[in-house]
Amino acid sequence: MAANGAAVFFDGLTSRRQHVHVALSDALLIIRPDGARLDSWPLDEVRALASRPGALRLTREGGPALARLEIADAALAAAVRAAAPKLSASHAAEAGTARKVVLWSLAAVVSLTLFGLYGIPALAERLTPLLPWSVDQRMGREADRQIRGFIETRPGPFACGEGSEERPGREALDRLARRLSDAAALPVPIEIVAVRSDFVNALALPGGMIYLFDGLIQHAARGDEIAAVLAHEVGHAANRDGTRHALQAGGASLLFGFVLGDFVGGTAAIAVLRVLSEASYSRAAETDADAYSVALMRRLGGDPRALGEMLTRLTDEEADSEPDNGGRSGAQTIERWVQSHPATGERRQAIDAIAGDGPAAPVMDDADFLALKRICGPDS
Ligand SMILES: [Zn+2]
Repeated sequence: MAANGAAVFFDGLTSRRQHVHVALSDALLIIRPDGARLDSWPLDEVRALASRPGALRLTREGGPALARLEIADAALAAAVRAAAPKLSASHAAEAGTARKVVLWSLAAVVSLTLFGLYGIPALAERLTPLLPWSVDQRMGREADRQIRGFIETRPGPFACGEGSEERPGREALDRLARRLSDAAALPVPIEIVAVRSDFVNALALPGGMIYLFDGLIQHAARGDEIAAVLAHEVGHAANRDGTRHALQAGGASLLFGFVLGDFVGGTAAIAVLRVLSEASYSRAAETDADAYSVALMRRLGGDPRALGEMLTRLTDEEADSEPDNGGRSGAQTIERWVQSHPATGERRQAIDAIAGDGPAAPVMDDADFLALKRICGPDS
């Protein structure tokens, strides 16, 4: 097949644009207007470059990288396409690459759109059940490290129960922790830390560790109130509320902060406390944790209504206490387990409604409860 026509040639060595004549034979002959041959491209070395529709842009495999030939003549372009064996294949490969780029760009746009539409909460909701529990444990350990270094405690170690006078309380709390842990049968063990602090609070860290502040121990009237509050916190751990909330509140940065442990300083500790504090959970999460407590207390043969009694007393006490004035520091965030809101009455009704009747033997008996009262020393 013989064909020829005009084209534009770049030799790849200079930026000069040359009007040439191309003759198609065994090779592509590139000829200057004065008849001198500039170059000769063997047909099996000719490759196509991306071009606008109808035009043909060629390069030569093994030639200068920027060498190219632009053929606008449709008849010549068609003849070259028919004659050069690797042209259509390379053209298809290039088109394939272009398709991939388009698909990836499309995927990026779609994921950004989903992210914009559904946001971090929905992603956290879907991601949390997929995470292995070791992630919860790792987040819990990191939160533990942050909080220990930050919150205000009375003189002495952060965790109560080490001194000789505190040990009976530690043993009583360990017995309760074992019973709760066995009954809950989570993939992670339940570990309860009695915190040497007057805050009236309890806090579930991700991964099974629960803080029980001495202030809350001192406000309890009987052992099953403590057991029921802890069972509620076990519910938060079981439902992975802290983990999900950490993802929702901080997104990837908080997750990676937890996981990589690069969160430092009081600001991080406040953020961690806010994320994990009772005040930050949704009503639905609280209702679920209440129901979990009732079920766990019933399984243990204890008093499932004790949680409602504790809720009511703490709420009444809070209503009588000094109003919160000013900004919320980390300490204020965790000062009280019960934040004053109208939900307490409804929560107690819901608890009583599912608690049912039946004989109750205390999950924590009076002797253990009295020992627990002294877990942070005889003077607390
Ligand atoms: Zn709660």
